[in-house]
Amino acid sequence: MVPLMKKALITGVRGQDGAYLSQLLISKGYEVYGADRSGDSGRWRLSELGIEGRVKDVCLDMLELSNIMDVLEKIQPDEIYNFAAQSFVTMSFEQPILTAEINAVGVTRLLEAIRKARPAARFYQASTAEIFGSTGPVTQSESTAFHPKSPYSVSKLYAHWITVNYREAYNLHASCGIMFNHESPLRGEEFITRKITSAVAKIRKGLQEKVLVGNLEASRDWGYAKEYVEAIWLMLQQPKADDYILATGESHTVREFVEAAFIAAGFKLEWSGTGLTEKGVDGITGKTLVEVSGDFYRPTEVDALMGNAAKAKEKLGWQPKTKFKDLVALMVEADIKRLEQQKMKNRRSSDKQ
Ligand code: NDP
Ligand code: GDP
Repeated sequence: MVPLMKKALITGVRGQDGAYLSQLLISKGYEVYGADRSGDSGRWRLSELGIEGRVKDVCLDMLELSNIMDVLEKIQPDEIYNFAAQSFVTMSFEQPILTAEINAVGVTRLLEAIRKARPAARFYQASTAEIFGSTGPVTQSESTAFHPKSPYSVSKLYAHWITVNYREAYNLHASCGIMFNHESPLRGEEFITRKITSAVAKIRKGLQEKVLVGNLEASRDWGYAKEYVEAIWLMLQQPKADDYILATGESHTVREFVEAAFIAAGFKLEWSGTGLTEKGVDGITGKTLVEVSGDFYRPTEVDALMGNAAKAKEKLGWQPKTKFKDLVALMVEADIKRLEQQKMKNRRSSDKQ
């Protein structure tokens, strides 16, 4: 007898993690229902991975309980992965209430719907290392105290605890992955990594002169998103739900990221000046490639994050493989390749006219 396909519902499917998890679950033979709010933003990610037609489209908004209930009743998923979020820290200072509605209350809506319509489903919540803030020890583990430093991280801390609470109160199979930053060519360009790799690619191709950045000294534990979704899937395959740190255990500054990205594109960057007057200059031509702007500083900053993923390694058998410099290089290469493909496409269409 052919075993029944497992059904997975992924919210925020058109974001970075949703796209990679869809690809992984399709390769494992799942029937994947991809939920996102209305609109087309992010669809390019599924199409870049070549899976657009293989993910079943579901319209779901984290603001609307009746919509979420209907979706669960109709699909009856075995596994639910919640990636939907207003996920950008800077925006959360500008839209703190909407951020809380989507990221915090939205998760309560989803959990309530699961409790009522599909309590047997296994649930994953995308928690973030931002909930630690930067007052704790050098390395953060599952037992480190939380001190969120932005409306985004406060909303995610609520979501984290409400997930734990529904697990304890209603015995739901609900797990949180406390994920440190994870990046890829599919990362949104508002985040520093993709902002830099996209700009470096354009500078390499002569389409942009320089890039403006904020705090160069902030330090993050940057991993490769494609590997993180494997751990996320493994979490829901465990007999018992639990929470896990997902991290590489290495931390690098924004400055190091900028340097590595320019090196990957064949530049040698030299720094001069300090603070807001600091500049990154092309060591050969002397042209300014990087400038610092106060506009990209945040009212409160998380200075440094570095995670200890020993529990995920021990219990899930998961560990990240891609190293920092390789991650930066693969992102720069992907952005350069996109520009080259776009150029070819433009040339072909102008040849036709
Ligand atoms: P993205 O920002 O790429 O994706 C988030 C998705 O959620 C988007 O498709 C977005 O749609 C959707 N969304 C926003 N608002 C709503 C809403 N009201 N209803 C339904 N969907 C909505 O995030 P990532 O893929 O990078 O991250 C996945 C999750 O993991 C997020 O929850 C994020 O906060 C969390 N996380 C991510 C980390 C990282 O480094 N990437 C680190 C730690 C946690 P739209 O395009 O329309 O806005
Ligand atoms: P976050 O860790 O979820 O906030 O991910 P981001 O990629 O948005 O930011 C990572 C770090 O880079 C933070 O400490 C930011 O303050 C810092 N940073 C410095 N310059 C910039 C910038 O121009 N854009 C963004 N998004 N972050 C920047």
